[in-house]
Parts: sequence; structure tokens; C-alpha cells
Amino acid sequence: MAEHIDGNAVAADIRGELEGAIETLADAGARPGLATVLMGDDPASQTYVNMKQRDCEEVGIEGHHVDVDGDADPETLYETIDSLNADENVHGYLVQDPVPDHVDYREVIRRIAPEKDVDGFHPENVGRLVAGDARYRPCTPHGVQKLLEAYDVDTEGADVTIVGRSRIVGKPLANLLMQKADDGNATVTVTHSRTEDLAAKTRQADILVAAVGVPAMIDASMVSEGTVVIDVGINRVDADTEKGYELVGDVDFDAVEPKASKITPVPGGVGPMTRAMLLYNTVKAAGIQEGVEVDL
Ligand code: NDP
Repeated sequence: MAEHIDGNAVAADIRGELEGAIETLADAGARPGLATVLMGDDPASQTYVNMKQRDCEEVGIEGHHVDVDGDADPETLYETIDSLNADENVHGYLVQDPVPDHVDYREVIRRIAPEKDVDGFHPENVGRLVAGDARYRPCTPHGVQKLLEAYDVDTEGADVTIVGRSRIVGKPLANLLMQKADDGNATVTVTHSRTEDLAAKTRQADILVAAVGVPAMIDASMVSEGTVVIDVGINRVDADTEKGYELVGDVDFDAVEPKASKITPVPGGVGPMTRAMLLYNTVKAAGIQEGVEVDL
């Protein structure tokens, strides 16, 4: 039986830490502000944005939201970005991905002021992360690091295999875990859809991270006894539930759990951590922009 890694509990601890930092900011007359921008009316994106706004309210971050018409030209979105860059009450913001097809998301990211880019996706922030001088660690990889730390999983010298090389999960996580740092120093193998003999690479892992987007693709034959398994995947599959679907990870939990030493469930593993780390980056951004020392 593996130990279940409780992302909700670790995320609650992080929110507790943030409350202290938010008080420090309040003592200096500042309140952190996070804005979300949604272009179009994608229902899943709307849900994500609503969740982020609710999270802000719960910890005492001022939430702002801007809707941009899905048919508007890119310039309209850029004007919103420019005004958020100039807004002193907004310390961090994000443009919810995906944007409509006629908008170049990379151009959007480049336009965000790097010190307000609390997702950590701006090229300057990506560069700083790779250079070992991260301003804001991207939320999901940072959340994974915090989970490992909370459950005393030492990354030093560990063989880590990451399945998935995306811009938002696999790549930044690989960079963070290989860094010469207390929460790094791992030997990292990054795999993807062109990897040959994937199972050989996943079986060599002390820590296996799945960030693929394919329901239950990591089966028991791909995991060695005693592996720490982190499942980033969140996939909707049809199910006989009220909503008509359920959320499952990239790991076949029931099959892998008996072999793992520790494992994250889906939901309740990495997901809550991603949300908590966005709040963390926002509070950190407020500290930087207000010139207030916050202990994060
Ligand atoms: P992407 O689609 O951007 O990347 C998926 C990666 O998996 C790609 O590198 C792809 O390879 C690789 N891949 C796909 N199929 C296979 C395969 N059969 N074998 C090996 N590698 C494969 O996804 P994201 O990183 O954005 O998201 C991954 C999952 O994590 C999704 O389920 C998403 O919903 C979830 N997610 C969860 C978050 C959370 O907070 N828990 C946050 C972000 C994402 P290639 O590059 O060759 O195409």
C-alpha cells in the first residue's frame, strides 16, 4: 500500500503561509491583486477563471477579472494587457489559455510585464528559471516540488523520469529538479511521444511524474516497486455520474498504487497545488512590486 500524497492538505498549509505574508503586506498598506483575463467563452476556461477568483477571495488577494470578446482583434486584447501592466493594484495576472485561434498566444505572453507574469511563462522568466535564478516558478512544477518536500521525498541523486515535455509542466519541472539546489540535484529523464521503449525509462525512476493527458496510460508494468508516483494528468472521461464524466489521471491508480511507495490521487493531488502556487506567486509579486519583504 502506497502512502497517498494529499495535495489538498499541503495546499492548505501553503495558503496558511500566505496569510502571514498577506498580513505583512497589509501592515505596509498593500494588498496583493491578481487579475484574470478571459478571451472568448470557453466553458472549461470560465470554470478555471472562477476557481482562481474564488481562491483569491479565500486568502485575501484582491481579484480582478477582464472579459474580452472572443471575436475581437488581437489589438483589443493587447490593450487590456497594456492597461494591466500599468495598473498598480494588479501585481500579477494571466491570460487564460487557450486564446482564440486568430490570436498568437506567444505574442500575448511576450506582452505581459515579466514582473507581473505570475504563471512564469514570459521568455524572460523562462530564461531566469533555466539560469537557476527563477523569479516565479511555474505553478504546476513548483507545486510538484512542494509535494515532494512535504512528503520527505529527497530529490538529491534521485532518478526522475518525467513523461511529457510541455512548456508548462514537463520542461520547467525538469529544469527545476536538475538544478543545483536543495530541492533539485536529481538526474532527470524527460520522455515524450517519440521516446523509444518508454517503459524502460519509467521503470528506472525513483520518482515518476506523468504529465501526458492520456487517461491511465501509466500501467503497473511501467512502474518499479517503491517508486514515488506523481500524477499531473487531469482527464475527463465519460462516466455514469451526475455530470456524465469523471476526472482521472494519467496513471492507472488502482493498478499502480500497490507498487508505489507514495502516490498522488486525481483529483486531490497536484491540482490543488497548482492553484495554491498561483496565489503564492501573486503574493511574492506584490512583495517585489511594493518593496515589502515577504518570507516566500
Ligand atoms: P501537453 O499536451 O502540452 O503535453 C503532453 C506531453 O505528453 C507532450 O510532451 C507529448 O509528447 C507527451 N505524450 C503524449 N502522448 C504520449 C505518449 N503516448 N507517450 C509518451 N508521451 C506522450 O499537455 P500538458 O503538459 O499541458 O498537460 C498534461 C496533462 O496534465 C493533461 O492531462 C493536463 O490536463 C494536465 N495538467 C494538470 C495540471 C494540474 O494542475 N494538475 C496543470 C497542467 C496540466 P510530444 O511533445 O511528443 O507531443
